[in-house]
Amino acid sequence: MQIVVLAGGVGGSRFTAGVRRAYPDATITVVGNTADDITIHGLRVCPDLDTLMYTLGGGGDAERGWGRLDESWRAIEELRAYGAEPTWFGLGDRDLGTHLVRTELLAAGVPLSEVTARLCARWWAHDPGLRLLPMTDDPVETYVDIPDADAPGGRRSVHFQEYWVRLHAGPEALALRQVGIEAARPAPGVLEAVAAADLVLVGPSNPVVSIGPILAVPGVREALRSAPAPVLGFSGILHGAPVLGMAHRLLPTIGVAVDAAAVGRHYGSRRADGVLDTWVVDTADAGSAPALEADGLPTLVRDLVMSSPDATAVFVRSTVDQVLA
Ligand code: GDP
Ligand code: CA
Repeated sequence: MQIVVLAGGVGGSRFTAGVRRAYPDATITVVGNTADDITIHGLRVCPDLDTLMYTLGGGGDAERGWGRLDESWRAIEELRAYGAEPTWFGLGDRDLGTHLVRTELLAAGVPLSEVTARLCARWWAHDPGLRLLPMTDDPVETYVDIPDADAPGGRRSVHFQEYWVRLHAGPEALALRQVGIEAARPAPGVLEAVAAADLVLVGPSNPVVSIGPILAVPGVREALRSAPAPVLGFSGILHGAPVLGMAHRLLPTIGVAVDAAAVGRHYGSRRADGVLDTWVVDTADAGSAPALEADGLPTLVRDLVMSSPDATAVFVRSTVDQVLA
């Protein structure tokens, strides 16, 4: 069985770990979001790819949800002591090794997909059936417009990482831009994996800054729409709120309510002009299923709390079984 998973960082990693648990013998291609990548102190950082790589490779800090296990922060102390900006981005000492290798290879002209494969050769060697592809090799970065009374027009633009890590998604997000997305091409293997898949899973990752950019890479949405495999989407919004993260701050910015049904409608049914065959909502949102069904989006209800890979595997397997039955 060939499975494609669309994933962001923390939620995407937990989901993928559950998919692997549910289908230990499948070939799983994870298409990771790169729209929150950032260059910091000259180093190219790909937060979602790294979270996926470390988590699935057993090298991630499960409690924090991102970064390396057993991390220390001495390099960033030195940067702070020099007054080197920015100081708000969490660059761990062990994590720095990854960014150094990546930055060096990128500078030598190696595409990000190849760099990612080389980094994963270390972390995913135990699981040759697992493959990580960046959504694109082309640089894409997300910027958020926030209010600023002193700036021209009363607003200024900050990198998504600054919005999230430094500002904790506090200011209202007036607008979002994924710079570079129009010119981005799907990374080698992405369209091929979707076309060859037996199953395409849209993880419960942030619909605005994780899944949104993947679908916005020209060609990816069309690939999902024409995929021979069933496409299942899983809600990361439970009972009107994300389980973690800032989706509730960003969904309104793109005109989508913070609500599992609204996110399902936003992705849409393949029978209309959307990307899903089936939308899966949490038991807390069971009440929204009949209306979604009536609107042409087949909807399943499951306990979607990813408390462990086993718990995630249970809802993945049971929804897939029902769809394939
Ligand atoms: P990020 O890139 O690190 O922000 O992570 P993702 O975009 O991959 O995932 C964040 C999303 O995962 C959030 O919108 C969460 O609501 C969702 N999420 C996190 N934990 C759970 C969970 O246990 N169940 C479900 N259904 N969604 C979750
Ligand atoms: Ca992310």
